[in-house]
Amino acid sequence: QAKRSGRARWQFFDATMHSQAMTRLTIEDEIRMSLLAGDFVVHYQPLVALFDRTVVGHEALVRWQHPQRGLLSPQDFLAVAEESGLIVGIGRCVLDQVCAVLAAHPDAPGTISVNVSAVELAHDEWAEKFLGIVDIHGVDPSRLVVEVTETAVMSLRAHTAGSVAALRDRGIGLHVDDFGTGFSSIAVLRDLPVTGLKLDASFVADLAAPGAVGRLGSDGASGDGAAADGGAGGSTADGAHNAGARGSGALAAGLAGLVAHLGLTGVAEGIETEEQEATLRAQGWQHGQGYLFGRPAPWPG
Ligand code: C2E
Ligand code: MG
Ligand code: MG
Ligand code: MG
Repeated sequence: QAKRSGRARWQFFDATMHSQAMTRLTIEDEIRMSLLAGDFVVHYQPLVALFDRTVVGHEALVRWQHPQRGLLSPQDFLAVAEESGLIVGIGRCVLDQVCAVLAAHPDAPGTISVNVSAVELAHDEWAEKFLGIVDIHGVDPSRLVVEVTETAVMSLRAHTAGSVAALRDRGIGLHVDDFGTGFSSIAVLRDLPVTGLKLDASFVADLAAPGAVGRLGSDGASGDGAAADGGAGGSTADGAHNAGARGSGALAAGLAGLVAHLGLTGVAEGIETEEQEATLRAQGWQHGQGYLFGRPAPWPG
């Protein structure tokens, strides 16, 4: 009896795994073809000064204009692209488009940030190729920022440090993305020539919850529940984490102080409400990014 159901389950999993492998290979092939066809496009989301909402730069976010399935976001293909190494080619394609935009728009405001995965950082001669693309376009490297997650950096250490240092030496900015979600946030600041950090959106989402530390304009009744997802940011189950001394609000405020103390650029991600904006501004966050200010979109014009 048990054996029979066990065998049945195996057949089930076998079929599932087979179809997953097929899908994966299909996606890989489609990525390869789309790299040749130029189907990877870049959308740009503004970064603003929280002081007055002036645009201080943009973040480049890759999109896949899939021939059959329409415009796809990174969540639909990034894992396969990273596991197959194809992200290296996608990254070069993104950087090439970003540098073309910078070259064509000498008066574009501020910097453009590009995201880089651990797989890219680990790739041989990644930094040399990166700088080669920048130089082909004749773009001033100080108009670029590279965003790496602390997880990406910690997974590779020595090799990675050399790659990003080479970019820093040419004047490219280095921001730690999704700050606060890894296991080594502070060590990254110590070990790498970091110029800025991006407070992870999960901290920002928590700011909208009742009792968030440093909350401004508390008109009580609103309870807009923009961050009803209590699972964000490793919150505790009792639902009172925002009010505590180590709630997201207190952590965001403390990190703003750390950023200022180290002379770094602080960017708060995922700002969707004016309440979050006001709280973060009062905490001392210089820059912000989120749907409140603008969604990712093709470069205008
Ligand atoms: P990320 O670097 O942390 O980028 C921020 C993500 O949050 C983007 O998702 C952006 O569209 C989204 N976002 C911005 N404002 C808001 C907001 O107010 N609310 C909400 N709910 N979301 C907001 P996207 O474009 O889907 O990208 C997801 C991730 O994929 C990025 O996270 C980044 O890690 C990765 N990625 C994107 N483009 C590239 C790329 O060219 N190369 C590599 N290696 N990774 C990329
Ligand atoms: Mg990013
Ligand atoms: Mg981020
Ligand atoms: Mg992210």
